[in-house]
Amino acid sequence: MQNRFDVVIVGGAVVGSAVAYFLAQDPGLRGRVLLVEKDLSFRDCATTRSVASIRHQFSTAENVRISQFGTQFFREAAQRLAVDGQAPDLAFREAGYLFLATAAGLGVLQANHSVQRQEGADVALQTRDELAARFPWLRVDDLAAGSLGLSGEGWIDAHALMNGLRQKARSLGVQVLQAEAAALEVAQGRVQAVRLQDGRRVACGAVVNAAGTGAARLARTAGIALPVQSRKRCVFHFSSPARLPGCPLVIDPTGLYFRPEGEGFLCGLAPPEEQDPECHDFDVPLAQFEDQLWPLLAHRVPGFEAARLKSAWAGHYDVNLLDHNAILGPHPALPNLLFANGFSGHGVQQAPAVGRALAEWLLHGGWRSLDLSALSWARVLAKRPLRELNVV
Ligand SMILES: Cc1cc2nc3c(=O)[nH]c(=O)nc-3n(C[C@H](O)[C@H](O)[C@H](O)COP(=O)(O)OP(=O)(O)OC[C@H]3O[C@@H](n4cnc5c(N)ncnc54)[C@H](O)[C@@H]3O)c2cc1C
Repeated sequence: MQNRFDVVIVGGAVVGSAVAYFLAQDPGLRGRVLLVEKDLSFRDCATTRSVASIRHQFSTAENVRISQFGTQFFREAAQRLAVDGQAPDLAFREAGYLFLATAAGLGVLQANHSVQRQEGADVALQTRDELAARFPWLRVDDLAAGSLGLSGEGWIDAHALMNGLRQKARSLGVQVLQAEAAALEVAQGRVQAVRLQDGRRVACGAVVNAAGTGAARLARTAGIALPVQSRKRCVFHFSSPARLPGCPLVIDPTGLYFRPEGEGFLCGLAPPEEQDPECHDFDVPLAQFEDQLWPLLAHRVPGFEAARLKSAWAGHYDVNLLDHNAILGPHPALPNLLFANGFSGHGVQQAPAVGRALAEWLLHGGWRSLDLSALSWARVLAKRPLRELNVV
C-alpha cells in the first residue's frame, strides 16, 4: 500500500462507502482515495443492524430533500452500482410510512405535513374514517388522523446498499484497507496523517470521519469535541397469524413502530430520554417484548393479540446530543477534516445524499447539489439546534 492518499475515509459502512462511491464516479477526481475499515465483517455497525427504512416525513426541509435523493438513488441503484454486469438488489419495497396522531399530536402532524408538502413529498393526511377504510386491521377509535407516504417511502436491504456502494467504489479505483484508525495527526491547522492501530502512518490531503459511533473518539484525537454518543436500540422480529394487506411502516403515537419483514414483522420502541444512557453492549432485554411492546401492538392491531417473538437484536444509534441531526462537512478549525456523523437513526436513507454532498465538498469546496449548510458545524458551535421532531 502507498503511504499517501488524497482522501482517507475512516469507516467503511454505508456512509463511508457512499462518500467513496461518489468521489470515485466523479470525473473531476484526480487523486487517490483510501477507505479504512476496522471490521470488514460489519457485524456490529449500525448499518447492518438497522431497520433500513426510508421516509420523507421529517420536520425539517433539509431532511426531506436528503431522503428524496435517497429514494431516487435506491430506484437507480441497479444501474448506478452494477459491476461487470452484476447489479446489487436493494429489494426496495415502496410500502410507505404511516404516522398516527391522537388529538394531542394533531397540530405537530399537520405542521410537519405542510413542511413535507412544500418540499414536494408525496404524502397525504388521512382522517380517522379514511384510515379505517384503507387499513381495516388498524384500531382507529383513539386516533385523530394519520399521515401516509404514497410513494418514495419504504425499506431496503441496507447490507446490499453498503456492499454495492463499496464494491462499485473499488471497481472505480478506491482502495480498501482493513485497519483501525487510532489517531489523526494535526499540524499547522490541518490533518497531516492518519495513524493506524498497527503503527502505520498514512499521509493525507483530507480525511472524512465516517466512523459511526466511533466518530467522537477519532475526533478527540484531533482536539475536536463531537457531541455524538452511542445509544442502544432493540429490534424485535415477531410472527402473527394476522394478515395486514398494504401494511406500511406504522409509527404509533406511543412511539412504537412496526413494519412487515418477510412472513412476519419487525417492531421497536425508543426508551424515554432519561432511560437512554450511553451504551456499548448488545444485550437485548427480551422481556421488553412481552411487557411493553406486545400490549401496544395488540392495542393498535387487534390481530396482533397472537403475536409471537421469533428473534431480536440490538444496535447502536450515533445520536447527536444537540438536535438529533447529522453533522456534516468540515470543522472550521481543521478545514481538511470532514464529518458525516450523528445520524441519530436515519443514516441509511441519508447515505446517498450525504455521500454525494461530501464528495462535492472535497472536489469543489462547497455544497452543490443540495445546500446542507444547515447541518454543518456552525449550528453545533453556536449551540443553535436544528431540531428534528420526527425522531423514531
Ligand atoms: C436498530 C437500528 C435501526 C435503524 N433503523 C434505521 C432506519 O430504519 N433507517 C435509517 O435510515 N437508518 C436507520 N438506522 C440508523 C442507521 O443504521 C445509521 O445511521 C447508519 O447506518 C450510519 O452509518 P455509518 O456508516 O455512519 O455508521 P456505521 O454503520 O456504524 O459504520 C461505522 C463504521 O466505522 C467503522 N469504524 C469505527 N471506528 C473506526 C476506526 N477508528 N477505524 C476504522 N474503522 C472504524 C466501524 O467498524 C463501522 O463499520 C438504524 C440504526 C439502528 C441501530
